[in-house]
Amino acid sequence: MSEIPRVDPCADLACNAQLQPRAPGSFELLASHGDARSGRLWTAHGPIDTPCFMPVGTYGAVKGLDPDDLRACGSQIILGNSYHLGHRPGAPRVAALGGLHRMMAWDRPILTDSGGFQVFSLRGLQRLDDTGVDYQTHFDGSRHRMTPESVLRTQAALGSDICMILDHCPPGDADPALMRQAVDRSTRWAHRALELRPAILAADQLCFGIVQGGTDLRLRRQHLAELAGLPFEGLALGGLSVGEPIPEMHATLAEIAPEMPAERPRYVMGIGTPYDLLAAVRSGVDMFDCVMPSRHARNGQLFTFAGRLNIRQSRFRDDPEPADPGCACRACRSHSRAYLRHLHEQNDPLYGRLATIHNIYFFHQWVGTLRTALREGRFGEVSALYSDIITEHYLRGPQPSSSRPAGGSEASREPDAAKAAAKASDTGAAS
Ligand SMILES: [Zn+2]
Repeated sequence: MSEIPRVDPCADLACNAQLQPRAPGSFELLASHGDARSGRLWTAHGPIDTPCFMPVGTYGAVKGLDPDDLRACGSQIILGNSYHLGHRPGAPRVAALGGLHRMMAWDRPILTDSGGFQVFSLRGLQRLDDTGVDYQTHFDGSRHRMTPESVLRTQAALGSDICMILDHCPPGDADPALMRQAVDRSTRWAHRALELRPAILAADQLCFGIVQGGTDLRLRRQHLAELAGLPFEGLALGGLSVGEPIPEMHATLAEIAPEMPAERPRYVMGIGTPYDLLAAVRSGVDMFDCVMPSRHARNGQLFTFAGRLNIRQSRFRDDPEPADPGCACRACRSHSRAYLRHLHEQNDPLYGRLATIHNIYFFHQWVGTLRTALREGRFGEVSALYSDIITEHYLRGPQPSSSRPAGGSEASREPDAAKAAAKASDTGAAS
């Protein structure tokens, strides 16, 4: 794959240190090609160049990686999950430790999910009403209530740069009546969040609204119209990748994303495969998150532009090549497939770290390549060059459960509540 142009996702962003900071929430559009676009969103902890992939650190760590590893991978922003952090170690404890940035020693932006999706996935869900939801945690069965106010308070305590409001995310196969109910409820909660926001969030914390409506385009458009007029700094598409057929998800993205307000960042929650990212970028999406690179790494799956390697296979036992000969990540610069396989066999924690570094780097490199192509006016050419490769290797083929995994932000969206609850309980291993 050496003929394929690749960017160094770290060098790509290095010049940002020289930029004159702008007010948090400022979003500059820098380039476009069709619906695809590239921009820069400013936060209290610096800029995010888009399109941008955001690794998931459910509990305040992208599992096994420290901030130096993340920076070396080209991570600009990471995710934390309010449901998990709110219970373990608890938002007041994080606040007492100086906030999530200080606790993790991560000085770049952080986006936090509201935690609503995890709560809606829990088997022990007790009661949903118009003002919030009562639930039992998967940690210890203790009972709590989540409201538009409580999720903002949690995120204020964590010190997130980008806070997500509480929305009602129904399963992908929910009936139309429930879909409509979820949209109406989410709109009411969006208004409530904006009323509460000045009293709860710091002035430099951004707040994003979330558009629901499943794959029903009319409902999506209606909800988008209801939220687009509200003063959120960005809008997200929620309720995708929750068990609906993949072509329907892509069709929804292609229809709805270009209609989202152009002057604000667009975020699609919980996707996706390298192919999903290409489809989302082509549709004009700016931000994405998924636990896929980190979770797949731990399962022995390494992403490359020649397809996914299963490092557990015995054919790698004597293979001196790096995981991906064209990759410049820390793992590939120093280590062979044979060594990675050996570490995996020995259950050595170093395997998880190196494999996660490689996969996160791959995702940043892939999105960075598209971002650079947009900025250099070569998006048509570069995306066409990669399209066959990415389609061949990542559109179809195995979509193991871990490709829609639990725990990252909106990542655990499964159609079946019981399945999702099982995954929610597994989210400690996510990220
Ligand atoms: Zn690598």
